[in-house]
Amino acid sequence: MLLPYFIPLFLLLTIHLNVYGFKSYSQYQLWRLDVTNNEQVAKLLGFSRAAYQQNINFWSEEFRVNIPIDVSIAPESIESFASFLSSDDIKIKYHVIMKDIGSIIERQNLIHKLIPSYENVGAFAYDKYHPIEEIHAWIDTMVQTYPSLATSFIVGTSYEKRQMKGLKISSNKTAVTVAGIPVNAKKAVWWDGGIHAREWISPATNIYIAHSLLSSYGTDPTITHFVDQFDYYILPVFNVDGYAYTWKSDRLWRKTRSKTSQPGCIGADPNRNWNYHWCEGGASSDPCDDTYCGSKPFSEVETAQVSNFLLTHNDTFVHYINFHSYSQLWMSPWGYTTSKPAQFKLQDDGSAKAVKALGAVFGTNYVHGNIGSTIYIASGNTVDWTFGTANITFSYAVELRDTGEYGFLLPEGRSNCSNRKRNTGWKMHDETKMVKHQLYDAQLPEVKPIGELCATTKQRVPRPSKRDGSHYLPSIANSSSTESFLENSQISSSTTQLLETSTKYNSAVQEAAKRFILRNNMARLAREVSSMNVTGSSYLKRKTLYDHIQPKINTGLPRITGKNIRESDNYKLGPAPPVNWFALKTGIEKDVHISEQTKRMEFDSDDTHKAELLILGNLIRSKVKHYLSSIKGGSAQRYKIVVHLTVFQKIPAGLHVASRCLWDTRTDNSVTINMQGVDCDILVVVFLCHTDVGGI
Ligand SMILES: [Zn+2]
Repeated sequence: MLLPYFIPLFLLLTIHLNVYGFKSYSQYQLWRLDVTNNEQVAKLLGFSRAAYQQNINFWSEEFRVNIPIDVSIAPESIESFASFLSSDDIKIKYHVIMKDIGSIIERQNLIHKLIPSYENVGAFAYDKYHPIEEIHAWIDTMVQTYPSLATSFIVGTSYEKRQMKGLKISSNKTAVTVAGIPVNAKKAVWWDGGIHAREWISPATNIYIAHSLLSSYGTDPTITHFVDQFDYYILPVFNVDGYAYTWKSDRLWRKTRSKTSQPGCIGADPNRNWNYHWCEGGASSDPCDDTYCGSKPFSEVETAQVSNFLLTHNDTFVHYINFHSYSQLWMSPWGYTTSKPAQFKLQDDGSAKAVKALGAVFGTNYVHGNIGSTIYIASGNTVDWTFGTANITFSYAVELRDTGEYGFLLPEGRSNCSNRKRNTGWKMHDETKMVKHQLYDAQLPEVKPIGELCATTKQRVPRPSKRDGSHYLPSIANSSSTESFLENSQISSSTTQLLETSTKYNSAVQEAAKRFILRNNMARLAREVSSMNVTGSSYLKRKTLYDHIQPKINTGLPRITGKNIRESDNYKLGPAPPVNWFALKTGIEKDVHISEQTKRMEFDSDDTHKAELLILGNLIRSKVKHYLSSIKGGSAQRYKIVVHLTVFQKIPAGLHVASRCLWDTRTDNSVTINMQGVDCDILVVVFLCHTDVGGI
């Protein structure tokens, strides 16, 4: 019954690869389906089993009435899938959440490279995602930095021969019960992330938590107490091969990378591969499916080795969290059945406490319960085994943020604590704080929950002050060198590499990136001047600033020398070239790169659109510069270009903005352009001022 819609597409199964070997999701869409009856659920479930054949991928694993189902669709299947959903015997309503998944991935890649970290502690950015090599190097750094607390451990080697490397945190203090009685043998806690490769927030969560435990030990009494009570085994990336693959080849890969019986279909779902009611329901025996349970229980070397470690290691594990994303769920066994274990109340009380504490701080709404009835039947999953076989009572599967706004593509970066009650605009960093509330469990020595970073100043991760501004600058701006001519060769090596060896970005974006670095150098020079403590008239201050900055910036123009060029008799500003303001305005309006960037923009009051505006502003600036260089007569380079952008939410109300920035009415003027984003308008004002300083 479902087949007629798709028969032609069986022949058209395509793999989308861009020229760089990275799977392209260009024009892929994410739809949210609203299912309202069980018949629809059954039909969708049936369809989902072969959906991969049309490059249709269900992001949601939950198939229940009145629970939205997210599904990504390749461009060639959009039409047929829409007609399937609207056919008479199904009639499922849907709406488009992401119009172009590929552009989101591409933009996040660019932001990852261009936007520096706000929470760079030592050499590691805790508000960024990291490839596997950096995570493993970070583990080594933690061991070196905290030798009395941290050691690394290797669970084994993956299918592709990568180390499954974790961090153990343990103090030499004796654990005590609530009554203060020493505990004979310390109990152990295991947390892992990245069992599903594309769920990047889960390794980041483990890393952040581990660092919090280490860095606050000895200064924060609650964390110190915690660390003294348990031994922590933290495996940030469980599925190392899959995770590496998401960085190099396919951002949305989920499974392991082992060979299967089916040529062309790689990997099994490591969260369906455990030897406890293996492959009974909610798992697929089709090697091409995303929930493929493997050829046998523990067919995947990664799950086999973790299970072996848990059973044979000389530690008593009492707590296990298997971190996933997304959906905001805190779940306990069973997954293979809807029935609940005898200890369910005890387990679910732990979930309830964690969820409640989180909600109080962040306003998030996590759902908790047993896997089987909270979301779906998933047999052979991790926590059924850790509870059913390894006897770890407090075994949890946690689906982190969000609830589908970004899904697996949760943006990196920190969120503003003052906005924590909002449910939208979450970024990765808030996510990492939640797990602390989980260590509440009744059977463990009673301890207080650890406070939130936002709520206590004591635990706040130290970061450079805003006034300093250095946190915002790329590495060259922080260098101690006083000379920083802004040529490619002297821009920081990583950035140069990005700009020059990567053909991934078009020239306009590369130009934008260069400008970004240029501007940050300006900021550093300005800071140097402000630290000079110049006293006296404002004229004197301006002059000092000018004298300091001017010789250090290589604008490519002949250097103007002399003590005060404004007072110099023989200095003359060359004639201004005739600017055709109308042509300039139309040129910007019709520029394809600029309009592409504008169309993507969405209003976000939490964020200041920093990255988007940066790119847009620099695209416009390079366009203007290009225009100026094309006109004849006069020194076009002597125009100072100022691009002023204002973003306002699209609401049915009038708004009129006017501004002027004119030093000389004979030469200077501005153009104003109104651009449209997804749900916002962007007002662009470009000022051109003819000046003796040289254009920046
Ligand atoms: Zn997952």
